[in-house]
Amino acid sequence: MAYYNPDEIAIPNGHFSHGQLDSSTGHERHAVTRPSDGVVYAEIPIADGPYVDRVVRASYESFRSSDWATRAPRDRAKVLMRWAELVEDNCQYLAQLESLGSSRTYQDVLQWDIPYVADTIRFFAEMADKDGGYVGTTQSNRFGMVVTEPYGVVGAITPWNFPMSMAMWKAAPALAAGNAVVMKPSELTPFSTLCLAQLAIDAGLPNNMFNVVLGTGQVTGAALCEHPLVSRVTFTGSTQTGANIMSACALTGPKPATLELGGKSPQIVFADAPDIELAASMVAKAITGNAGQVCVSGSRLIIEQALYEQFIPLIIAHFKQLIAGKTWEQNTTLGPIISEQQLSRIESIIQKSISDGSQCLYGGERIIGHECGTYFQPTILKVTGCDDIAIMQEIFGPVLTVQTFTSEQEAWQLASHNTYGLAAGVHTSNLDRALRAVRNIEAGSVWINRYGRTFDHIMPTGGYKCSGIGKDIGKEAFEENRRSKTVMIDFDLNPSN
Ligand code: ADP
Repeated sequence: MAYYNPDEIAIPNGHFSHGQLDSSTGHERHAVTRPSDGVVYAEIPIADGPYVDRVVRASYESFRSSDWATRAPRDRAKVLMRWAELVEDNCQYLAQLESLGSSRTYQDVLQWDIPYVADTIRFFAEMADKDGGYVGTTQSNRFGMVVTEPYGVVGAITPWNFPMSMAMWKAAPALAAGNAVVMKPSELTPFSTLCLAQLAIDAGLPNNMFNVVLGTGQVTGAALCEHPLVSRVTFTGSTQTGANIMSACALTGPKPATLELGGKSPQIVFADAPDIELAASMVAKAITGNAGQVCVSGSRLIIEQALYEQFIPLIIAHFKQLIAGKTWEQNTTLGPIISEQQLSRIESIIQKSISDGSQCLYGGERIIGHECGTYFQPTILKVTGCDDIAIMQEIFGPVLTVQTFTSEQEAWQLASHNTYGLAAGVHTSNLDRALRAVRNIEAGSVWINRYGRTFDHIMPTGGYKCSGIGKDIGKEAFEENRRSKTVMIDFDLNPSN
């Protein structure tokens, strides 16, 4: 049984500016494939440098001439609140557009992503009038103030794994803070972002304050980051692309960049975990959610030796319950891997790891029998050392590595990763140990007896080490979208002062 017929969904296609889609055909095109069944279902235009230039200039013009940046922040908030309502009103169509060409199942988008997106917008709408700068202490005939202002045009580059949620991590704080946004969604999953942009205009956002350019990273993304009128860049994606973007921001600015990048996050389970079965279900979900295609996937299980024999079968029992299938099918609980290229990469990492001595405890192969869809079995690899390829590299698939420890010190050593520091989960009922985990683990988020973010947008997210710079969501994300200006006012002027 299917929730919808993917061939019957109307797809908005074209760049978005001046409040409408530009469906003109004078561009090179990029084919877009459905990972669920391998069908090429659309071709998007690729915005080249001159096109990106026109769109950014239109956004800059709107930033200068519309009153979005200067109106009372609470009036910006009203538009954003209306936008959140429109997202909810259009939840079914948005969920179809999102699930159709991505790894997200329709049901998950409807149940999780849509409410999350609406909450993100509302959270930042509420932040709009909460940042007032401050008065600095200086001499008595002088006022010193620090006021904050929006940057202007923010360039936003988003990935394919949670297209709408990532789009709102970027657009909602930038717009609430008074900026204009030009967004380039992933070329693999561009369409839901177009719909969100249209809904923003319908909610009352002035034209060109949220524009979208479609295209590849190398052409369109690079042109956006390098544009002189883009004052700030915000990105979620791979560490290598983040480094390229930061380099472009340095060479063409310098301009600030918020980068939320890759991870190789540990889930550390001690034998004194408060509930072993619950811990196993969290570990299983944290590596199979979105088929492991999540930056904060808990991809490294680090487990106390005494618990190992009991724990692995519990995880396998969860894996066995998953049903791989198309994102629009009702019984699907394990969606596809986003592309054949990504699937082959997962396979080759596993093969190399096994040939270097890892033992495959479960899975390890692509799932066939879904037409040309790209699916991979939930997999457990018992690795032999920290230099194994499956430990070193972010796999971005449902592949869990396992390492065991016999002392707490060893657990912290295994948890520490040479490259990444995005998140970590720790399961223990020992409070002292939990607090030592918080102190010892180098990561942007540490979760004790849980794994994953919540709907509490007040809690920021971001990485240490090569997992990123700056924060998404939280107050920090709003503040990163405003720059501060120092103002000094002298009065009672007296030549002797
Ligand atoms: P993936 O290869 O898994 O899609 P990336 O990090 O390369 O992950 O892509 C995330 C986003 O970054 C996509 O929207 C992509 O088009 C964009 N991108 C890729 N390369 C660049 C680049 N050099 N400059 C700007 N954006 C880029």
